Amino acid sequence: MPDAVVAERVVKRYRAGEVEVTALRGVTFTLPERRFAALIGPSGSGKTTLLNMIGALDRPSEGRLVVLGEEVGHLSRRQAARFRAERIGFVFQDFNLIPVLTAAENVEYPLVMVQSWPAEKRRKRVAELLAAVDMTSEANKRPDQLSGGQKQRVAIARALATGAKLVLADEPTANLDGETAQRVIALMRRIRDEEGVTFLFSTHDPRIIGAVDTILRIEDGAVRMEAPKEAAHA
Ligand code: ADP
Ligand code: MG
Repeated sequence: MPDAVVAERVVKRYRAGEVEVTALRGVTFTLPERRFAALIGPSGSGKTTLLNMIGALDRPSEGRLVVLGEEVGHLSRRQAARFRAERIGFVFQDFNLIPVLTAAENVEYPLVMVQSWPAEKRRKRVAELLAAVDMTSEANKRPDQLSGGQKQRVAIARALATGAKLVLADEPTANLDGETAQRVIALMRRIRDEEGVTFLFSTHDPRIIGAVDTILRIEDGAVRMEAPKEAAHA
């Protein structure tokens, strides 16, 4: 079984005019498949930077980053776009649903863009995904008719639509109240259990950290992997 993510001495520098910022100074870790992992660290520690590189939205300045067996730093823009669309699911803090589309149409959207499936097959997949996130009865509502937690459940269904084996979520519960956040996390964990999808999400919510099996702690540009028990005492 290949690992979901292998990072070896990954460095990321940003240049803003004359100034160079080193966001990651040499990150090394291995995230096996099927983990339910939290990336934690203070604001500005490089969580978004790391998730963006794992999702092939950006490239390391140095080092080696292998995601689902693919060395992502070596992909062309076109290959990276294809890799993202077919193999990675993204869930964002502000949900990023398309406002004019219903819940069902939002989930269907990646299928229209990526897979040349016939309409009937798409509809079946969308129905399955909406059922998996308990949103069947809201299928025809638009995002402005849904609560924050419901929107995030639609976004999770959308992230899974094309059969992604790795879902990256950048502070997915930041805009949800505590109880809703716990429910969204429990839902993601159930999907991991049932479908073998690896989840990696950034968070600074200490309540959520109790629900994960792996913690990647990012600090001073480096990552340390911890079992959740150690983290609870840190
Ligand atoms: P986090 O998500 O943990 O809050 P980020 O990955 O957004 O952290 O940022 C890490 C560091 O890199 C910060 O110092 C931030 O200012 C810097 N940074 C992030 N993106 C850019 C960018 N596009 N250009 C310049 N600096 C950036
Ligand atoms: Mg961030």
